[in-house]
Amino acid sequence: MYKLLPVLIENMGAAYPELDAQKELIAKVIKEEEDSFLRTLETGIRLLEKTMADAKSTGKNEISGKDAFTLYDTFGFPLDLTELILRENGMTADIKEFDAEMQQQKQRARNAAAIETGDWITLKEGTTEFVGYDYTEYETSILRYRQVKQKNQTLYQIVLDKTPFYAESGGQVGDTGVLVNEFETIEVVDTKKENNLPIHITKKLPEHMEAPMMACVDTDKRAACAANHSATHLLDAALREVLGEHVEQKGSLVTPDSLRFDFSHFQKVTDEEIRKVEHIVNAKIRANIPLKEYRNIPIEEAKELGAIALFGEKYGDHVRVIQFGSSVEFCGGTHVAATGNIGMVKIISESSVAAGVRRIEAYTGARVEELMNTIEDTLHDLKALFNNAPDLAGTIRKYIDENAGLKKQVEDFMKEKEAQLKERLLKNVQEVNGVKVIKFCAPLPAETVKNIAFQLRGQITENLFFVAGTEAEGKPMLTVMLSDNLVAGGLKAGNLVKEAAKLIQGGGGGQPHFATAGGKNADGLNAAIDKVLELAGL
Ligand SMILES: [Zn+2]
Repeated sequence: MYKLLPVLIENMGAAYPELDAQKELIAKVIKEEEDSFLRTLETGIRLLEKTMADAKSTGKNEISGKDAFTLYDTFGFPLDLTELILRENGMTADIKEFDAEMQQQKQRARNAAAIETGDWITLKEGTTEFVGYDYTEYETSILRYRQVKQKNQTLYQIVLDKTPFYAESGGQVGDTGVLVNEFETIEVVDTKKENNLPIHITKKLPEHMEAPMMACVDTDKRAACAANHSATHLLDAALREVLGEHVEQKGSLVTPDSLRFDFSHFQKVTDEEIRKVEHIVNAKIRANIPLKEYRNIPIEEAKELGAIALFGEKYGDHVRVIQFGSSVEFCGGTHVAATGNIGMVKIISESSVAAGVRRIEAYTGARVEELMNTIEDTLHDLKALFNNAPDLAGTIRKYIDENAGLKKQVEDFMKEKEAQLKERLLKNVQEVNGVKVIKFCAPLPAETVKNIAFQLRGQITENLFFVAGTEAEGKPMLTVMLSDNLVAGGLKAGNLVKEAAKLIQGGGGGQPHFATAGGKNADGLNAAIDKVLELAGL
């Protein structure tokens, strides 16, 4: 399908110049989506084939509705497609069960979203004036309120005549704070937008609904949010400078703790590019560029300023533009007075969110300070562990190499020990009623015991009865290995081990010819070995 892009550009390019400007990116994204769809399709078909084979092997010509639903839900197979493939194989699906699964899923979604909203109770007619660009405290009174119930929680939504609270929008989370007067203090836990009005969310209503209140925004959180929002604008500009003009904002999340920015770019942003971006942004922070805010200017004027609009976002005739030097964006969010207030920006992660869309997360200000402290502490601890070696990386590498060498030596040593032990065991085979009994107790790792047991089974093909009590890292283990003729005679290693393991306060099991059990009481190992032999009548 991506090959059809030139045709689309030819026909639609005049109306949508972005198509031609970004044709390489678009083609790559479509191809990636197609590939990913085909991969999903392939996985789904494999699953369906397996489901059909399973049904057929039990003599059924119908697959369950549950399986058909999994194909729909996880692999995006429409029921029609599943039925078509089934028909080609002379099979059907349980449609009734499929419908029931679908209903159940819808119900689950409904329950999760169930909200009971009360009617608005109006105290005063009017609409809200937002004063939050200039103030963080403002005298206000309540226009209307209502109750909202969701998941056993009752909240209230309050509309004020004037408010400094910024309502969640443009990726920036809503303000929190308090409504306060001489009678009481009401906490505002969030501010959201509804029909373009800021709605203050509280856990209780004021007792004196008509009394004027001071609406006070949590200024620490607001300042942290503003720093992260302004940093987002600077990052946007720096990414375009470093990666190219194709970088376009695809989404953002600005909270007091961190910022997240999604943008169009096809490959992973390299560590070097990240450094460059950080450097550009931090240089701008140090330059302390003052905020230039154009509030409510005609959109034409904004475009003349070179303001960047969000693709697909609807704007009115009048817009707000935020400028920090060369960064100019359409924006309704709250910002720092000058870039110096951001303190510093540090990108903490870079990842992919969708085909052709990358995501970076970053910290600013105090969070960067915290991050630096954590890194410093970790480094300090590491250095202390390695006796403050001047070349820490080199020292750690030396230890890793040394460790690998030692591991190899231990493995060789264990193999040698394994061989010696096996020889000794072979020499000490006890014949009891024609059965070749090998029993021993030793501190050995599980892997070694298993190896010895299987090697002995290879060498003594008949009448082998192997029982070992071993201990590794303080944990006792019981192992039983039988040759096939003893199993055929009615002995089961699993049962023997299970019963005898009680003596080491443990449990376990396995196959009829080989079984192990772990326990807690190593002192009981000898008794457990005797128990195994007793149970086998030896
Ligand atoms: Zn913005």
